[in-house]
Amino acid sequence: MRQDLPEIRTALPGPKAARIVARDQAVLSPSYTRSYPLVAERGEGALIYDVDGNRFLDCNAGIAVVATGHCHPQVVRAIQEQAARLVHMSGTDFYYENMVSLAEKLASLAPGGGLRRVYFGNSGTEAIEAALKLSRYHTGRDKFIAFLGGFHGRTMGSLSLTGSKYVQRAKFSPLMPGVTHIPYANCYRCAYGKQPETCGVECVKVLEESLFKTILPAEEVAAIVVEPVQGEGGYVVPPQKFFDELTAVAQRHGILLVFDEVQSGMGRTGKMWAAEHFHMSPDILAAAKGIASGLPLGAIIARAEIMSWKPGSHASTFGGNPVSCAASLATIELLERELLDNATRVGEHLRARMADWTARFPCVGQVRGLGLMIGIEIVRDQSTRERAKDWRDQIERMCFERGVLVLGAGENTIRLSPPLVLTKDQADYLADTLEECLAAIAKR
Ligand code: PLP
Repeated sequence: MRQDLPEIRTALPGPKAARIVARDQAVLSPSYTRSYPLVAERGEGALIYDVDGNRFLDCNAGIAVVATGHCHPQVVRAIQEQAARLVHMSGTDFYYENMVSLAEKLASLAPGGGLRRVYFGNSGTEAIEAALKLSRYHTGRDKFIAFLGGFHGRTMGSLSLTGSKYVQRAKFSPLMPGVTHIPYANCYRCAYGKQPETCGVECVKVLEESLFKTILPAEEVAAIVVEPVQGEGGYVVPPQKFFDELTAVAQRHGILLVFDEVQSGMGRTGKMWAAEHFHMSPDILAAAKGIASGLPLGAIIARAEIMSWKPGSHASTFGGNPVSCAASLATIELLERELLDNATRVGEHLRARMADWTARFPCVGQVRGLGLMIGIEIVRDQSTRERAKDWRDQIERMCFERGVLVLGAGENTIRLSPPLVLTKDQADYLADTLEECLAAIAKR
């Protein structure tokens, strides 16, 4: 029996899992969205063992978080050693070296080079809040441009940018005023009805040709906040010209470019930042999720001249705590040493396996992605591109029953965001399992 592949020993959920799920349902917030009853007990690399001894191949990585795999020994050692020395001090008021070392490292990794400064929070949403506040502080402007389908978090500021799902915003108004959403460069579903050959980047041109002339004075816009690869929106990869046009508009109007790399960053796309695929150098870059292999940490990395706010203007008690910083330094070392390469290599292998899926499976509308950030869009009919959310959900469930953990993103996309330690054999197992499920859907 292969120890690196799934093994399902019980009906799912198993008896222990079922009991824990029942207890959970009685006491935890019903706002969480659980797709299937996985009750995790321990993890190792790309594998998760549940409480009944079933072994799963994890292609979610705790929602793109455990970049180095579950419990990588080097990360665990760094956490243990740091926890035995100093757990908390509060970098808002005191100094400790590994917070400085991590900031130096992140500043040196910022795409495009130049002097950078780093601010630490604890999560993606906090990184976005910091980016919003810094953008306003630096520009003296109050408005923002964001994208439909984008996800930036759920606190009031970041939620105002989030344009992903109705349920995330309903009943939470009033949100932060001054955010204008425009269509994202989703070329499979172009909001302007264009094909890649006829595209004139209308999704960005709408700013100067329409919005800036009518309802949104450009000189009041602090920043454009964009995911370089849309994550929760369905793992959508825009074309290069989208970024070229965005840069040109931002420069013409003195608007900052904020890249939300909370999901796409930290090696997920095979490069440290997705921005690098598009030769972009954002003014502010937000990172979280994969940054510390599972410990809570978020950061913004900004051009040094932009991050010029006064002492006291922004801080967070736990932000950049010593244990998270230690985990992050170990994570980055592993990414640079081997995992960026592995993400590129195994990602290419997976996408090569999927290259003929639109021809073989009528329910596959598109396969897209970079590195190990891969989306498979499920449609009722390839010609109408009608979204097949129910089929996507069924595939998710079928994969679970076969020991493979995948989740959805967007309305009808299967998202693959496995740990970056995924091996070629595990990638093949994932592809085989998905093929089996897609074939089953085709027979319905
Ligand atoms: N930004 C992006 C692109 C995300 O994908 C997420 C979470 O999914 C967030 C921000 C919010 O991060 P967090 O859940 O850590 O607050």
